[in-house]
Formats: sequence, C-alpha cells, structure tokens
Amino acid sequence: MKTVRDLAALREAVGGARREARRVGFIPTMGALHDGHLSLVRRAKSECGFVVVSIFVNPLQFAAGEDFDRYPRRLEVDAAVLESAGADLLYAPVPANFYPPGFSTSVDVADVSDGGEGAARPGHFRGVATVVAKLFLQVGPDAAYFGRKDLQQTAVIRRMVRDLDFPLRVVIAETVREADGLAMSSRNVYLSGEQRTRAAALSRALFHARDRAAAGQTDPRALEDETRRELEAAGLSVDYVEAIEAGSMARADRASPGIALAAAVRVGKTRLLDNVVLEERKTP
Ligand code: AMP
Repeated sequence: MKTVRDLAALREAVGGARREARRVGFIPTMGALHDGHLSLVRRAKSECGFVVVSIFVNPLQFAAGEDFDRYPRRLEVDAAVLESAGADLLYAPVPANFYPPGFSTSVDVADVSDGGEGAARPGHFRGVATVVAKLFLQVGPDAAYFGRKDLQQTAVIRRMVRDLDFPLRVVIAETVREADGLAMSSRNVYLSGEQRTRAAALSRALFHARDRAAAGQTDPRALEDETRRELEAAGLSVDYVEAIEAGSMARADRASPGIALAAAVRVGKTRLLDNVVLEERKTP
C-alpha cells in the first residue's frame, strides 16, 4: 500500500489504477482506525479493484470547544492496519494545503442537516459535506463507503450526491460493535473504565426499543420516551432520542419496520451516537 500526502500524487496513483480499468472504491475517515472502518475497507475491496482510504481530521466539522485538538492521531499505526485490511492507497492530506489561505467555499445540504446532530452541533454537517465533496472531486471514486452508525451523515451524503450529480454509488455498511454492543468509535478511547461500562447502556436501550417495536409498540413517541428513561436510569446524559425516517431524517409518525431510532448521549465529556433500524413484528 502506498501513502500519498498531496493532490498531484493522489491523482497519479488513482490515474494508474484507472488505466488498468480497476474500479475505485473510497472510504473517507478521520483516522484512529478500528474494526468499523476496516469493515468498510473490506467491503470496498470485495467490490472494487482499487481501494483508497483518506485520513484527515477535518477542522471544518468541529465547533470551537469540541475535541479537534485532542482527537486521536496515529497515522503510522493506521497505515499498517490499512495495509493488512487490503487498502491500496492511503491519502493523508496536509491540512495547510488541503484548505489553503482564503478557502471560503462550503456545501450546505439543507433540510436533512437540520435536526439531530445538526441541531446539537451547528455547522457540523456543512463541514462534513464540504470535506466529502472536495474529497470526492479529488479522488473521483466509482463507489464511496460509509457506516450506518453515523446515520444522519449517510442521509446528508446521499442527498448531496443526488442533488449535485456526483457520478458515484454511495454504499452504507452496518455498524460494527464491541462484544457488549457498544458501537465502535474513535472517541471510545476517551472513556474511563467506569464510563466504558456505563456506555454499553446506549446500545442496550436501543436494542430493547427495537424488541418492543417488534413486539407491537407502534407509538414512536412512547418508544422515544421509554428509551430516554432507560438511558437516564443507566446514568447517561441524553441529548436526543428520535424515531426518524432515515432517508429524509423526518420524525416518524409510526414506529414501523425500516424506521430508525437514533440517540446521542454524553458520558462525561464524550458524546456517543448510535441507532437501530426497527424490524418486522416477530410472529409468536
Ligand atoms: P470517522 O473516522 O469517525 O469519520 O468515520 C469514518 C467512516 O467510518 C464513517 O463512514 C463512519 O460512519 C464509519 N464508521 C465509524 N464507526 C463505525 C462502526 N462502528 N461501524 C461501521 N462504520 C463505522
């Protein structure tokens, strides 16, 4: 696997793959890679002949006072795990070159960016859409891979790709979890031992809600309220719990199969996200 740090080298490497008629798969990340990221790499590798992974801690998507400065950075370890997962090219742009002085363009995906994470973190999805649009134009992939853990992000990217006619396929892969259910996240390293134990209540409460919906609870507000209470009882501070239609991010008016239940909680200073998709009613 090769590592490139500037646009000219990226274009040369991807151009070489294109001349060999290899399909290009792309996974944008912020590094501190775990099995969730690597599942995307493996999925891309099963569908594309040439897999590009970017690692860039994007300042545009962090608000003042968030964890941009302390976000984990470990490029060498990441490069080694990417190589063993089968990635072909690591693109790790240098921040000062990626956003040159005077950079002033942004991509704003209205509507799907407004609720949930967008409401909790104003400007976050503008930063995400801007960096992903720029990376798509730089890499020029045939397919791009994202994790369902960041559900609203997938809706924002899908909408942007549709609205701006990016010529690529967006693939959404399932959330990869630790043994106790906690969704893998680069931010899990911030958790102390006690916080890590408490954090498992997030997925547990969402799984319970999915079971209640499968057993016949169709009222989305009741499902949200019960989940919120369960999270609070486990000592988690709840930012939101929302039953939503995942494509539009609109609040669901019925807790039916395909509706997502998404939650954000805080454990100490660490914010954790997760979601489940409701399933068919179980036949007794
Ligand atoms: P990040 O480095 O956090 O920006 O994530 C890069 C990509 O990996 C995004 O598409 C995430 O949704 C995805 N991802 C992060 N955690 C997981 C996980 N536990 N399972 C599957 N995909 C994930």
